[in-house]
Amino acid sequence: MNCREVQELLPAFIDAALEPEATIGVRTHLNACHICRQEESLLSSTWSALGALPSIQPSPEFRARFWERVRREEDESNKWWAVFLPKQLIPVAAGFLVIWTLGVAGGLFLFKGRASASKPLELAVSVFASPFPPNSIEQIYLQGTSDHSQNVRRQNS
Ligand SMILES: [Zn+2]
Repeated sequence: MNCREVQELLPAFIDAALEPEATIGVRTHLNACHICRQEESLLSSTWSALGALPSIQPSPEFRARFWERVRREEDESNKWWAVFLPKQLIPVAAGFLVIWTLGVAGGLFLFKGRASASKPLELAVSVFASPFPPNSIEQIYLQGTSDHSQNVRRQNS
């Protein structure tokens, strides 16, 4: 047996997994060759160091917690809106809904105020909320139409 053959067989030799014939061959070579003996001692010390490591055991609750979490994730994804909305987008969608509702409500309020600005407060609100600057032709026109509708109403009553 030459050095290369012996070193290939060393792991199995240390593991005592070699045929008796090969074991004797390796042992004979090791007695004669100090390079392979060094290799053998290095390998076997690494081997025993690995064996000395405690094997990792998951804590008893780990398995229960793991499955509990899997079940919860499944419940989440079974909700009806999950079909339309991925879970990460739900806060975004909720935010949009709130802003949209506020916008529509505010728009309706301002539109109503401008269309029938007959009380001073409503008139002030309509001027304040108008997109046109005060005393601009558009603003005067808007005020004029509401004054006019007031006059018409007054004439009718
Ligand atoms: Zn050798």
